Amino acid sequence: KPKLLEIKGLKTYFQTEEGVVPAVDGVDIVVYEGETVGIVGESGCGKSVTSLTTMRLTPGKVVAGSISFQERDLLALSDEEMRKVRGNEMAMIFQEPMTSLNPVFTIGQQIGEAIEIHMQYSKQQARARAIDMLKLVGIPRAEQIVDEYPHQLSGGMRQRVMIAMAMSCNPKLLIADEPTTALDVTIQAQILDLMRELKEKHNTAIMMITHDLGVVAEMCDRVIVMYAGKVVEEADVVTLFTNPKHPYTQGLMKSIPRLNGTDERLYSIKGSVPIPGTLRKGCTFAPRCEYATDICRQEIPELNEIEDNHSCRCWLYEAKGEQA
Ligand code: SF4
Ligand code: MG
Repeated sequence: KPKLLEIKGLKTYFQTEEGVVPAVDGVDIVVYEGETVGIVGESGCGKSVTSLTTMRLTPGKVVAGSISFQERDLLALSDEEMRKVRGNEMAMIFQEPMTSLNPVFTIGQQIGEAIEIHMQYSKQQARARAIDMLKLVGIPRAEQIVDEYPHQLSGGMRQRVMIAMAMSCNPKLLIADEPTTALDVTIQAQILDLMRELKEKHNTAIMMITHDLGVVAEMCDRVIVMYAGKVVEEADVVTLFTNPKHPYTQGLMKSIPRLNGTDERLYSIKGSVPIPGTLRKGCTFAPRCEYATDICRQEIPELNEIEDNHSCRCWLYEAKGEQA
């Protein structure tokens, strides 16, 4: 499959009062056309900042790396060019649609605006297309809803509207950041079904940012595990679930599933994610790792391919070619 998105050596830093925080600290991610890649990890691991940086919406500063999308360097585009990419070839949906939907405009105006800008539709054509999109995402009474305001809809319906907006221009890549976290289980299942359906219909690739392993198991082809600003493991979904290698991933697998709410600290791994940048030496997981040895506290392990299509950043494993 051809590469759609290739992030290389990405570093996104934040300037805070306590100093510089490397929220994303040397991340490499490839997304192939039409696949769904899960990016998992606890709150603060850098998964959201990675996706926001890809959309060029991060408040942080990109200090190194490149983001190539359909063979164009996104970091080199002008703001104007980037606006065209966003919502056209690449779209994003968030956990809480209320913050991304504008409360003073109707649903139709908002979907319509996205369509008009990117497809040069007339107002009427855009409205008709907005109604089509609402129907496509399974919103009943679309002809009525199109003239309603976001607050008149339920959380599940608003999330559908967000998806309708995101999908209205047939993006090649949909970035979904905790798209179902705020929703109850039934609605969550419906939204995931909908995303799967749209993906199959339009061959849209999805980058699924989540801390929910249930969502990953159900949706993803490949999984990337992030910890403290770095990728620590990467494999296809079956391998990751049946044969996790990184002690952090193994901990995630043993974690307690949780049904609802917004608290991401659901894992049973003791300790907490270090504030990125506070540990400048060694493996960032060492303070929480039961296998940590001296070298772990001294040197940062590389992300190595340890088996075919299975990479891990841990001193317990050697790179494929180097194994005895
Ligand atoms: Fe644990 Fe060492 Fe592997 Fe880090 S490198 S995860 S501390 S064993
Ligand atoms: Mg997040």
